[in-house]
Amino acid sequence: MHARAARPFLAGVLATVGLLCVAASALALHVDRLDPEETAQLQAVLERLDPLISSHKQSGTANLLTWEELYQPLTEEQRAFLDAVRALRGTDLGATSHYFGELSEPPDVVPVGPQEYLKEGQPILLDAQVLPREAMLAYEAMMEAMAHDLGKRLLVESGYRSPAYQLYLFLFYLPKHDHSIRETNRFVALPGHSEHGYPPRQAVDFINEEGINGEDNPEAFEALPEYQWLAHHAHEFGFVLSYPRDNPHNTAFEPWHWHFEQSDK
Ligand SMILES: [Zn+2]
Repeated sequence: MHARAARPFLAGVLATVGLLCVAASALALHVDRLDPEETAQLQAVLERLDPLISSHKQSGTANLLTWEELYQPLTEEQRAFLDAVRALRGTDLGATSHYFGELSEPPDVVPVGPQEYLKEGQPILLDAQVLPREAMLAYEAMMEAMAHDLGKRLLVESGYRSPAYQLYLFLFYLPKHDHSIRETNRFVALPGHSEHGYPPRQAVDFINEEGINGEDNPEAFEALPEYQWLAHHAHEFGFVLSYPRDNPHNTAFEPWHWHFEQSDK
């Protein structure tokens, strides 16, 4: 205590701030399965966030959600819970997924669509999507070529997603994977680990014009002529399949998820 009291005022303040950060990130989560208290916390967080997410979805801005918007409706305890999930790294979970981090500036994005597919003859409108400009141009050129060859196109079911929205999605899917952070991480990336939130390696999840996206059955997407076309031609447009079968990232096979690599020209 003597040493602390002797420090200049500012150093004391910084030490206190440092202590608080450690306390927040040290909130140990049960990553194999949330304990009952954490499960209740998660439930409360999802309920609080539901109106916010619904209104952003309605206005087509969910993918651009900011950290400030996400934290605003939450109590201090709930924010600490979010901080603890946000502080996790794939390597803590036995995964070797990439950590990309976050860009300091929001990206220059353009809207995709509006887009709709046909389900049993009925048009279904997809949620609004955005892509960084360069990825959008490459996607459009690729679809022109696909339409020329196959008479079909693929739609963008998910493009750019801000790290804050990525965290929300991770929390949203946790109950569907038995409240296991480790298991959820095989299907949904933690913020900072997703190619969807990292424009230099922008991910696109495709869905075909009949609404087949592979979510329930990856093989159904893999069997599409559109997928076979991508397997042969996507590289010509700078798109790469991120998670083939048995990939080294311990991520499930995702035939719909491709990323655009910016050329250095
Ligand atoms: Zn994806």
